[in-house]
Amino acid sequence: MSSFEPHLIAGLTVGTIATGIFSVDQYPDWNATLMLPFLGGLCGALTPDMDIKSHSSMFMYLLYAIGATYLFFSGEPFWGFLLLLYSIIPQFFSHRGFIHSGVFGIISSLGIFAASYYNFNNLSLCITIATGYFFGFLSHILLDEA
Ligand SMILES: [Zn+2]
Repeated sequence: MSSFEPHLIAGLTVGTIATGIFSVDQYPDWNATLMLPFLGGLCGALTPDMDIKSHSSMFMYLLYAIGATYLFFSGEPFWGFLLLLYSIIPQFFSHRGFIHSGVFGIISSLGIFAASYYNFNNLSLCITIATGYFFGFLSHILLDEA
């Protein structure tokens, strides 16, 4: 059982590695793009604990609120709505149940890949985001087992 700080540090580490891998591969000219793999790793590490009231869930709901607000005001209300809908899914499951399973990790990684590919149309970027998210998710599961 692990607390917020180890999950946050693992997510930051995985996100930084994913960002480094992507930046070596792509040298993106838009610096904000570098934040996306970083956020992927961070979100993967903090998402599983959204099934309980925790620091991780408060942090993630803040990120979802910022993301959904941005999407609503940038002309993408459908994606903003999907983001909000996705954010409430963990509330329907018990703690350390389905949201902490490998099946959810794979499904949510594929969903993040599909959503990011739809929005950015950059295969390398989207694979890096989804892979970063998945390894962040795995770090959470491993830290919970330790
Ligand atoms: Zn957990």
